[in-house]
Amino acid sequence: MEPKTPARRVLVAKPRGYCAGVDRAVEAVEKALEQYGAPIYVRKQIVHNTHVVRTLEERGAIFVEETAEVPEGEIVVFSAHGVSPMVHAEAGQRQLRTIDATCPLVTKVHNEAKRFANQDYDILLIGHEGHEEVEGTAGEAPDHIQLVDGLDSVDRIQVKDPSKLVWLSQTTLSVDETIETVTKLKERFPTLLDPPSDDICYATQNRQVAVKEIAAQSQLVIVVGSENSSNSKRLVEVAKGFGAASYLVDNASFVKDEWLEGVTTVGVTSGASVPEELVDGVLAYLAGHGFADVEEVESVKESMRFALPHELRKDLRAG
Ligand code: SF4
Repeated sequence: MEPKTPARRVLVAKPRGYCAGVDRAVEAVEKALEQYGAPIYVRKQIVHNTHVVRTLEERGAIFVEETAEVPEGEIVVFSAHGVSPMVHAEAGQRQLRTIDATCPLVTKVHNEAKRFANQDYDILLIGHEGHEEVEGTAGEAPDHIQLVDGLDSVDRIQVKDPSKLVWLSQTTLSVDETIETVTKLKERFPTLLDPPSDDICYATQNRQVAVKEIAAQSQLVIVVGSENSSNSKRLVEVAKGFGAASYLVDNASFVKDEWLEGVTTVGVTSGASVPEELVDGVLAYLAGHGFADVEEVESVKESMRFALPHELRKDLRAG
């Protein structure tokens, strides 16, 4: 008798993909294009996804690195990752009309930074050096904020007064790694204050919970997301932590046939800036390779929605 081929299946994590902040930011650019017409300038990638940026470019959005590249008087949208007060000031000097698509959960961290800086706290901002969100938050109180990027940087921190010390974080970090960093920080600074509420956002946390569930049952986890997407990269790390091989792919064309050798269960998820059509592409690729049995594994229910930026809502109402 022929040996039976083991059944091949796909476990798709839920929640995955678009979070409320990304949804709002992308819709803000789409609505701005409809309301004011092209071109609409966008400072930095509106969200960290190549496909989303390309699609908006095709519709008339122009992505720039700095406000200085936007012609005077034009409309510029600030990305979901947030900007420092200096960027707002520059935009004002150039008489740009701004639509601020900063995620409200990033704004919350900015407000915490301002409040603690006003009370003369030293702020330890856990995050990745060079990430736009970290630059924006640090810009709120540059004299009070020090970046903590990885466990090694804990030893290098110098503070004025350890009794007036608080930690905040980037919204898209690994929950488990952040706990490790905070534990090490508290060994050095036992009176270190916690943020008033979680800075790692609900979407980042939920996608990590969901990927753990599928990674525990899969030999391979494919994470759909772009290389510059912090929360997508964290999903790969979390999946690996659960013993699955894991790769980040922008779309199905990046998946390699050899990853599937000897694999019977593949997990699939996507970062918070990833449209569902890219996940569909990966599922179609897998179906074409004998993985047609697809099961969605829901770990957490999500219902968060954010209203569009108020400056845009005002004009949409008037129009
Ligand atoms: Fe907002 Fe979190 Fe989405 Fe970032 S990942 S845009 S902080 S909801």
